[in-house]
Amino acid sequence: MQIAVDTDKCCAAGQCVLAAPEVFDQRDEDGIVVVLNATPPADQHAAVEEAAQICPAAAITLT
Ligand code: SF4
Repeated sequence: MQIAVDTDKCCAAGQCVLAAPEVFDQRDEDGIVVVLNATPPADQHAAVEEAAQICPAAAITLT
């Protein structure tokens, strides 16, 4: 799994951080998403997939 995020789309909603806090964080200054681990281990894939689905801006792409 490879994670890509479009920071131009991100609206700093923070849903991804709630779903997968070990993989996503938010910038202190504006809340825009930060990917902590773009190639997360298998035990985090379900949480990452949930994060991508619930992101209101569809800013998370998984390949
Ligand atoms: S859920 Fe989507 S819009 Fe919200 S911080 Fe994460 S990437 Fe950005």
